[in-house]
Amino acid sequence: MELGLNSKDLSNSASFAGNWILIFTILVTTIIITTYTSLKRSEEDHLRFNYETDMILQIVENRMNNYESALIEARAFVKNSKKFSRKELELFIQDTEVFSRLPGLQGLGYSIMIKKEQKNQFEKAMRKDFGTFKIWPKGFREIYSSIIVLEPQDWRNQTAMGFDMYNESTRKKAMDQATEENRAILSEKVFLVQGGERAELNGFLLFLPHYKKDAKLVTVTDRKNALLGFTYSPLRASELFGALFSEFKMMVNVSIYSQNEDTSNHYYTFSQNGYKPVLSSVKKLNLHGREWIFKFSDLPQFPRSSSSLKDFMVFTTGCLISILIYVIFHITRRQMHLAHALAIEKEKLLQREKEHVQTRDDFLSIASHELKTPLTSLKLHAQIMQRAIERKDTNQFKPEKISALVHQVDEQTNRLTRLVDDMLDISRIRSGKLRIEKGLVDLNELIMDVIDKLKPQFMNSIHELPKTIFKSNIKGHWDRFRIEQVLNNLLTNAIKYGNKKPIIIKTLQENNKAKIQVIDQGIGIAPGNLEKIFERFERAGMTAREISGLGLGLYITNQIIKAHGGKITVKSIPEKGSTFTVELPL
Ligand code: ADP
Repeated sequence: MELGLNSKDLSNSASFAGNWILIFTILVTTIIITTYTSLKRSEEDHLRFNYETDMILQIVENRMNNYESALIEARAFVKNSKKFSRKELELFIQDTEVFSRLPGLQGLGYSIMIKKEQKNQFEKAMRKDFGTFKIWPKGFREIYSSIIVLEPQDWRNQTAMGFDMYNESTRKKAMDQATEENRAILSEKVFLVQGGERAELNGFLLFLPHYKKDAKLVTVTDRKNALLGFTYSPLRASELFGALFSEFKMMVNVSIYSQNEDTSNHYYTFSQNGYKPVLSSVKKLNLHGREWIFKFSDLPQFPRSSSSLKDFMVFTTGCLISILIYVIFHITRRQMHLAHALAIEKEKLLQREKEHVQTRDDFLSIASHELKTPLTSLKLHAQIMQRAIERKDTNQFKPEKISALVHQVDEQTNRLTRLVDDMLDISRIRSGKLRIEKGLVDLNELIMDVIDKLKPQFMNSIHELPKTIFKSNIKGHWDRFRIEQVLNNLLTNAIKYGNKKPIIIKTLQENNKAKIQVIDQGIGIAPGNLEKIFERFERAGMTAREISGLGLGLYITNQIIKAHGGKITVKSIPEKGSTFTVELPL
């Protein structure tokens, strides 16, 4: 019993721990999946972002290389024209349709190098073709450069004609570098002179040196000596990049700087919206002798895979699935437990059914034996009498013989009556019809009455009447007939199982209760059978052949005492004897 309780507790605590382990495992798995998918999405975003930014760098680089190609084409034309004239270059530039081919290119021109002694003559010659031409800004310098061609000839570019770029340090630096390295070189940030509106014309220039034909260009000095001028292109940052980035859908924002991220070096920012970016990076691009800095960040239209909403949804979905798994698991386990409990219950019922069948079979065998014994005895006596009548054996008809015979018949019929009464009582108890009719009973007197009725059995078996130890004057309201039945059962058992040893019967009065004790020194009862003997048909392993009985006496006794609001208990030591105690309310 105790073991069963403990194992149930253990299984309960095991399933409790199991539940927590399950919840913990599911939760950890959900967190891992959420983190993993979140990382994967973020990784995807970074890859996409990196791809987009690399693409922008590539586009800018390609475009700048295209501009360089345009300069190279123009220089090739100048180099190879037999008699180079300003007009021819203008026509060449117009013919190549370079401005429609390369959107964002705002100008393509030629700047010639003029030594101080050539300046006046040069200006005079130029004015033949270009009425107001002069090298500007004014001032005396060792060497001048002068823009002589700048296409397209719109109002802005016309204002730049004659401008001495070599006089301005940023441009000079780029021109010198281009001369020395014999390649196209970008200037740092300059304010272009076209249009005169400085703030608007934030930009840079691309210079390609033009040397004397067939000159030796091995050393820097060779190149400086051979320098004739530059094909060049002025580039306004906002127009160049604006045109460039309008050609495709920008997913990322970009800010472009020359050299470093100082605001004074800022060329261009694609979008100035107030969006707070999530992804950002800074990349450098080496372009024609300059290092440009590109600061990238994502725009709202950037297709970001990662989002806290998605993470939340994955986590919530995970949690919901987890709860679902848990509920299914829980229900399944409960159903399994229920099925298991039902199987056990069924097993118990089957076992009980088997026991009932066994008990019924035992009862039938015992009952038939118990009924047969007095009937056999009665039949035997009838046969003896029949034979005596046939033989006319007068000896058998003597009064003492007849008296003995009648006594025997009476005893056997009494036994049969008791058996039938017991069975009827059982049926009454089962149908709840055992009626208790209470009246004032003197307990000691009733006991003496029962002893008197059982006198022949006492004398036959123990050869003495039971010893009585009575508390005087115990009276209560009980059913006399039923209490007599109780005393009869207990004393009969004491005789049957008492090993022919003396019996004591005590009465006591305690706490408003009357107590009757029947003490024998007989075979006793094994501890395991102490509770069982009060059940129906229970004979504690006794067979009818050993000691006769139906196993109903103590059951009926217990029911009668309970019906009176009392109780019966037994203490017993095998082979030492038993004490049955009955308590009845007064
Ligand atoms: P029965 O005596 O007809 O078997 P009871 O219900 O009176 O039925 O008793 C049930 C069983 O209890 C008996 O079969 C017997 O094994 C045991 N028993 C009853 N009284 C005693 C006793 N005084 N000493 C030993 N065993 C007893």
